[in-house]
Amino acid sequence: MPKLPFPDCCGCTACRSICPKSAIQMRPDQEGFSYPVIDSDLCVECGRCGQVCPVLHSPSVPSSYVDCVVAQSNDRDVLDESTSGGFIDALYRYVLEVCKGYGAGVTFDGDFLPKHILTDSYEKAKEFRNSKYAQSDLSDLFIDLRKLLSEGKTLLFVGTPCQVAGLRSYLGKDYENLITVDLVCRSIPSPKLWRKYLDWQEHRHQSKVKKVFCRKKTYGYHSGALEIEFENGKRYAGSNRVDYYMKSFHSDQCSRPSCYDCKFKTKHRCSDFTVFDSWNPQAVVRSDLTDNDRGYSNVIVHSEKGREILNQLKDVVLIPADPEKMFEFTGGMESNSIQYKPGRKTYYADLDLLGFEVTAKKYVTVSAKDRLIERAKPLRYYIKKLLK
Ligand SMILES: Cc1cc2nc3c(=O)[nH]c(=O)nc-3n(C[C@H](O)[C@H](O)[C@H](O)COP(=O)(O)OP(=O)(O)OC[C@H]3O[C@@H](n4cnc5c(N)ncnc54)[C@H](O)[C@@H]3O)c2cc1C
Ligand code: SF4
Ligand code: SF4
Ligand code: SF4
Repeated sequence: MPKLPFPDCCGCTACRSICPKSAIQMRPDQEGFSYPVIDSDLCVECGRCGQVCPVLHSPSVPSSYVDCVVAQSNDRDVLDESTSGGFIDALYRYVLEVCKGYGAGVTFDGDFLPKHILTDSYEKAKEFRNSKYAQSDLSDLFIDLRKLLSEGKTLLFVGTPCQVAGLRSYLGKDYENLITVDLVCRSIPSPKLWRKYLDWQEHRHQSKVKKVFCRKKTYGYHSGALEIEFENGKRYAGSNRVDYYMKSFHSDQCSRPSCYDCKFKTKHRCSDFTVFDSWNPQAVVRSDLTDNDRGYSNVIVHSEKGREILNQLKDVVLIPADPEKMFEFTGGMESNSIQYKPGRKTYYADLDLLGFEVTAKKYVTVSAKDRLIERAKPLRYYIKKLLK
């Protein structure tokens, strides 16, 4: 085990969870990304933390895929609140309502920071809908999950590929009652940056945040925007084109260091399902489809267990598709890491020194043309609807 923390550490918490002496704490570094810190007074040098680290020892990966579908929920509320086609919500519904099991996913805590939680209530699992674009806090979730699995409970875990690999590595064996879903994950910014962005928005709108959707489809799936509702009734919406947080994220200058050489980006995954955006559904399905601009999920099934579950899902349309064609439209994100940008070196130091607004404006530009295109979006959307 290299001395903790090491730069490739993805923060999966497997080492902390396995430690028999509770000698490892996850602590945020200056940038706000959490890393394991060992208390040498408690450590007995058993080496187990190194053995479960998925960065040092990748979990075995059986196959690339056994099935592949494009999915869209039949439930309008699910579809409106989900990032793409609402496929993951259908899985939670199956596990929580049919199997009477548990679901683990990401919600916002009281400070609007992403946090993985566990629930046996589908009502609560509705909070998992929509991507939260900052690294989630896993706390001691893996330990709780292992307990439930050994009691025979059915469990669905959804997370980034590194989190799923960390969980599988910590568990150390296959559980028939565990279902895992990973995402095609561009990369992840820090919770500290996200909170500083929200502080800035609260200051601009003179009110506390009440609700956040990182990708809302008010003007269609293809024009998704980050939307914030404030307690004073004000509302903010900004797409990747004009929003300074989303633009920073997509400029690859503020992601976790491990994301620039991600060990988990491969078509071969240790999960049961890989789910991601279906930007060109009509080009990947093996039948006729007219894109209704409400969002579709690309779903790659990696296991026979996953294939069986697929047949049990309700309230979701599943259309057979071609996996290789799906990958054509991800920009290589399923297998390639983001490129390291020179700005990454100083982005977070500037954040501490200059605050969110000045830093973001120093590293990304929102042009007058960007703002014009953004302003024309509602009009374009309604004209498109009228012409249909
Ligand atoms: C950080 C991040 C980066 C992504 N990058 C890409 C990409 O580059 N290309 C692409 O095609 N798709 C990407 N996705 C996936 C995509 O945005 C959708 O999540 C996916 O299509 C599933 O959509 P859905 O409608 O089925 O589920 P949704 O209703 O959107 O459900 C989202 C699920 O993701 C989980 N989740 C939310 N936020 C986080 C988080 N911070 N960490 C871990 N799990 C989380 C929730 O628990 C929930 O189960 C990314 C997702 C995330 C969270
Ligand atoms: S070597 Fe063993 S005791 Fe020490 S931190 Fe790692 S797991 Fe814990
Ligand atoms: S097990 Fe996870 S958190 Fe621990 S060192 Fe490895 S990558 Fe980092
Ligand atoms: S890019 Fe890789 S290391 Fe970064 S959050 Fe996604 S899976 Fe984890």
